[in-house]
Amino acid sequence: MSRQDVGNCCLWFTMLGLLILCIIVVVGGGSVLLANEANATPVPTAITTCEGLLKNVHSAYSANKNIKTDKKYILNVYQVEGDQISGMEKGMVPTNLLKFQDDLESQILIWDYFASIIPPEQRRSLTEYRIFTDGSGNIAGYADIKLSSKNESATETMALEVDLAGYQDLNSINDTLVHEFGHMLTLNNRQIDIKTDPTRCLFYTTAGQCSFGDSYLNRFFEQFRKREPDEERETGTPDLREEIADSWTNFVMEPRPTGNRLSAQKILFFYNFPELVSLRSAIRGRICKYFNMPE
Ligand SMILES: [Zn+2]
Repeated sequence: MSRQDVGNCCLWFTMLGLLILCIIVVVGGGSVLLANEANATPVPTAITTCEGLLKNVHSAYSANKNIKTDKKYILNVYQVEGDQISGMEKGMVPTNLLKFQDDLESQILIWDYFASIIPPEQRRSLTEYRIFTDGSGNIAGYADIKLSSKNESATETMALEVDLAGYQDLNSINDTLVHEFGHMLTLNNRQIDIKTDPTRCLFYTTAGQCSFGDSYLNRFFEQFRKREPDEERETGTPDLREEIADSWTNFVMEPRPTGNRLSAQKILFFYNFPELVSLRSAIRGRICKYFNMPE
């Protein structure tokens, strides 16, 4: 099967810090790598409510470990089966990264947190968990999504990648994990129509992939982007896949917004989907339960 690589990167600035987002897409079978940079401060002991905990965990970005590398290195790759990770394989890394490669405790803790907050039925296609680094302050995570069609049926496999340089404690990694899961939710084979030639796609097409008409991505596009001039859409705006993943993260982590600001509308978008409202509740409940904070 022929494969095609398409890549692009973009910079986003949030109120709380720098967000660096990157996408690499492979179609044919299709693969999507998506990333998010996020750090947060630890939960103060004074927090006594679930809502307070969620607010604290959400979007507190900061640089931490002073890791310098010339490129991205895969430190360790784990196989995923349900809630379990096993069969760890080490990557080749320079000596200054060995201590991070050997920090299995943090790597396992991050996985346990992800598996605790994302319901198992939502991550059935996840087969690998990879720890990488591209240095401090760069990309904090990827969702590597491979879609292919075989014998009339669409298949998918996914890998979660986490940059150990973006990890300080579990709070620091929360938004990255929710964001990467947002890609898994919006770019899976129920959302992306792998069988339709992108040149014949009637709906939102991104990086050579055609979305389904009723996909979250296409609906998001129709609501927020369709009226923009084509030139602006091509050059001057953030990648829609990153935008929907960021809005998803805000939808999960923040109280239901009021008002008519664009950022509020992008969060309210998700309230149109009862299954996502349920999923939001489940994830929020799981985060609070993980930190032993009653809902
Ligand atoms: Zn992303």
